[in-house]
Amino acid sequence: MTFRNPPDLRAIFSGGSPGQVVIQITNYCNAACPQCGMRKTASIKRHQLDDLRLRKILDQCSRNGIAAVSLTGGEPFIRLLELLDLLNYAAHWGIRYLRSGTNGYMFAPEGKAAGIEEIGSFAKALSATGIRNFWISLDSADTRTHETMRGLPGVVEGIRRALPLFHAQGLYLAANLGINRNVAGASIPPLGDPADEPRFFEAFMAGFTAFFAKAVDLGFTTANVCYPMSSVQAGLADERPVYGAISGDPVVDFSPAELRLVFKALLEVIPGFRNRIRIFTPRSVLYALSQGDASFLFPCLGGYAYFFVDCKDGHFYPCGYRGNEDMGEDLEKAKAQGRRRKPFCAKCHWECFRDPSQLFGLARYMIRHPVLCFIKKRLDPRMLKLWFADMGYYIRNNFFDGRRPG
Ligand code: SF4
Ligand code: SF4
Repeated sequence: MTFRNPPDLRAIFSGGSPGQVVIQITNYCNAACPQCGMRKTASIKRHQLDDLRLRKILDQCSRNGIAAVSLTGGEPFIRLLELLDLLNYAAHWGIRYLRSGTNGYMFAPEGKAAGIEEIGSFAKALSATGIRNFWISLDSADTRTHETMRGLPGVVEGIRRALPLFHAQGLYLAANLGINRNVAGASIPPLGDPADEPRFFEAFMAGFTAFFAKAVDLGFTTANVCYPMSSVQAGLADERPVYGAISGDPVVDFSPAELRLVFKALLEVIPGFRNRIRIFTPRSVLYALSQGDASFLFPCLGGYAYFFVDCKDGHFYPCGYRGNEDMGEDLEKAKAQGRRRKPFCAKCHWECFRDPSQLFGLARYMIRHPVLCFIKKRLDPRMLKLWFADMGYYIRNNFFDGRRPG
């Protein structure tokens, strides 16, 4: 995200950040991921938003100055032609940071890598839209593990074949890892007593190292990491999540002690790869999360500057998890509700909202309340140092512009 425009800066200084809306266009999916409640075998009600409603939502985003829109699923690309139209529509109405992603099923439609021509025409069609960032999920450094989890045989070879074709069209894709116990291949056993911590930590260090090496080897130039979201996490116990991208499966169910070590391992592994592949994930946020202390976290901007649109009813929600708080179908009214309530939540660590909330939160508090920050540990010297390093890295990498090679 760049800050060329005064509205971006105004948004930050007035207590928020440039607006973001995640629109779930469908919860239909053709993959089998155990870490997700929308897998094709899950017994859930399936929905998809119709084109008219989606255009109205994009109109509202444009009118309300929303800078970033993600079109997500389920698998959004099962509605390929509509999705291409929507991306064009959103770009036409001035939404600058358009994002979407896929499980990559189209790269191996019948269990083996798709042909060059087929992938090439998809790459050309997608590149001709206004999309800025496009990600492909990759769950493990081990090909067989990833393909088994997804139920998509041949997809990794398909991805390898696809990446240069996208690069030729000027679109640089991101590998998207959802943290899980199979990141290295064989499942990493749960943490035992405290004496077991070094084993668990090193296993995740090795897993993340293997993952980034695999992403580089496949030809990715960018990577991003999604933090594990388990439906049995304490913070979400009272909510009725509307976003089905969570699961009670042990592959993503981590205890608080495990999570701290997982975040710490990722924090330590990233520097070894940042000059080989652009890694979105901010180390200052990983540091804050690895403390296991809520005083290091800034309130989430979900329901204030960021919103989620559910595919069931097309309504705005504070995020995909606070399903008890239907904010209706009018974004302006949803924003007014958010302004009255102010940001307060830190119930989960959904990276789409946690990462920018933390980065913008620290910037804002440093300017507005430096003394208070210090008292509440938010100006922890290491976190501050990492924040400046993150900002420098983001600026050098054009805020991960997927239209640039690096
Ligand atoms: S993680 Fe994505 S691809 Fe996998 S089941 Fe869920 S929506 Fe489908
Ligand atoms: S921390 Fe953010 S994403 Fe998580 S439940 Fe709260 S508002 Fe939603």
